[in-house]
Amino acid sequence: MDIAHAALNGGKAVNITIDDGPDPTWTPKVLEALADNHVKATFCMIGPQAAAHPELVKAVVAAGHRLCDHTVHHDEAMDHKSRAYQKQEILAAADQITRASGGVRPLYYRAPGGAFTPYSRQIAAAAGLRPLGWNIDSKDWERPGVPAIDATVKDELPNGPTILFHDGGGDRHQTVEALEALLPWLRAHGHSFSFPVR
Ligand SMILES: [Zn+2]
Repeated sequence: MDIAHAALNGGKAVNITIDDGPDPTWTPKVLEALADNHVKATFCMIGPQAAAHPELVKAVVAAGHRLCDHTVHHDEAMDHKSRAYQKQEILAAADQITRASGGVRPLYYRAPGGAFTPYSRQIAAAAGLRPLGWNIDSKDWERPGVPAIDATVKDELPNGPTILFHDGGGDRHQTVEALEALLPWLRAHGHSFSFPVR
């Protein structure tokens, strides 16, 4: 199974993807920014964080967003490790996320740092998880300032529809502010919001 980048809706639709949560501080704020703008997104969750915060996973699902498996340990070198390790990282996280959500399964698998292998894509696909890439890295994880995040996304829009943000891994107030500015801008410029293809 190849790595998905396209939007289900096609046209000028974009896929907002939110990685590395859930986080008790930032996920609710990201959810609020999305709700304020009537945007549905895809949340790529780390298994143990989902297990620690099932109420956040349930809130994500209840708001109509989709779940994505982002492994157990977020090991960006997992593509150099054994097949057994890769399999465990993917399938154990899928189970943790599914339990935390109350039975709603993730529909995608995003390798940490893009560390996919042909094997991990096959394992994910067999578990019903479409491998998911990205076209635009907002670089919000570097905390470069809201104007820089804003400019990166706007400049890279021709790259493709799938945009990467983060609600975990540190202080994400810049991400929240950037979403509050970018989501209305995208809509005003003719973009709709979609989920990635499955
Ligand atoms: Zn990540």
